[in-house]
Amino acid sequence: YLQRAAELGHQLTERLQANEILNIFIEKLIDLFPIDYLYVFDNKNNEKLELIRSYEKGVEDPVSLDPIVVTEGIIGKAWKLRKPLLYKTKVEWLKDNKVYFPFDMESGICVPMVKSNEATGVLFIGSEKKRIYEKYHVMILDILCSYLAVALDNARHYEETKYASERDSLTNLYNARVFTNRIEEAFRYLQTGEWRTVSLLIVDIDHFKKVNDTYGHQSGDAVLIQVAKFLEEMVGDRGLLARYGGEEFVVLLPNMDKNEARDFGEWIRRRIEDEQFVIYNDLADERQEVTVYLTVSIGLANAPDDTDEEMSLIRCADRALYLGAKQVGRNRVAEYVK
Ligand code: GH3
Ligand code: MG
Ligand code: MG
Repeated sequence: YLQRAAELGHQLTERLQANEILNIFIEKLIDLFPIDYLYVFDNKNNEKLELIRSYEKGVEDPVSLDPIVVTEGIIGKAWKLRKPLLYKTKVEWLKDNKVYFPFDMESGICVPMVKSNEATGVLFIGSEKKRIYEKYHVMILDILCSYLAVALDNARHYEETKYASERDSLTNLYNARVFTNRIEEAFRYLQTGEWRTVSLLIVDIDHFKKVNDTYGHQSGDAVLIQVAKFLEEMVGDRGLLARYGGEEFVVLLPNMDKNEARDFGEWIRRRIEDEQFVIYNDLADERQEVTVYLTVSIGLANAPDDTDEEMSLIRCADRALYLGAKQVGRNRVAEYVK
């Protein structure tokens, strides 16, 4: 048992995705122990336990009620005590039970998942047979739950760190670094013929400084967040959207030729022109709602039309933006001309 528990521990800590970890854990546990019922609860803000996985007699996740939230009963007791509980018969656990449990369950073990003295969740396993679990089952399960707690915590930490490293913290859009990587990737796809063409738009808000000067920097931030959301909605899965700089956004459009990209850019430009951005004026004495109208200038470049070098695609779009749109009066889409 100990050897198999150690093996499972290694397998869990090798994985980086929380879902995958839970899958392996549940699969192996059912192999290892006599189990008819299994429930995994996750700690939500140290206030509640949410049911995140369940298993009943060969069926995965049958308990698809809204995630059950528990702070009492058997689950709550193990959580508060930070100690495993062993039940040999139904009579024993009925007195502790408060919420949901299968009618024909007799034996049960309830183990808190503890990491650095904190209960990060609770695991419950049960069987319809009486007195099926022994003390050694509890001990092994206790060890396995520590592995699970550590592996899940690492995975979540990894997921959070990865998210933060790829995102702009104001708008939650992808950041410039991710965008640059995607351009490199795009040129590989062009080379292998997987993509036939790719277009790039740079969307720069016109006279954005005025928004800050008139309503304050925080209101400016609020506008940027709304513009980002609006762009996200418009771009959808047509391409990759990122915040490239302060009030500049970029869109990479796979398999969209220059004509299509021009139309798409024009559609974005017009919709932003028509949109009302509602914010609070920070600089007013009283909290006051104001409607802000914006326009954007858009620069467009395409590969392989304008360049076959990955480094210059953005440069081409940037040139189009300044020479073709900003200098000519703003609120327009301009494409790169050699
Ligand atoms: P143009 O039409 O030439 O693009 O004019 P502009 O004012 O938009 O351009 P400029 O590059 O002169 O100024 C950009 C402004 O965007 C200046 C800066 O204060 C503002 N800005 C950049 N990043 C942020 C941000 O994160 N939050 C806020 N509130 N403002 C920002
Ligand atoms: Mg700018
Ligand atoms: Mg600008």
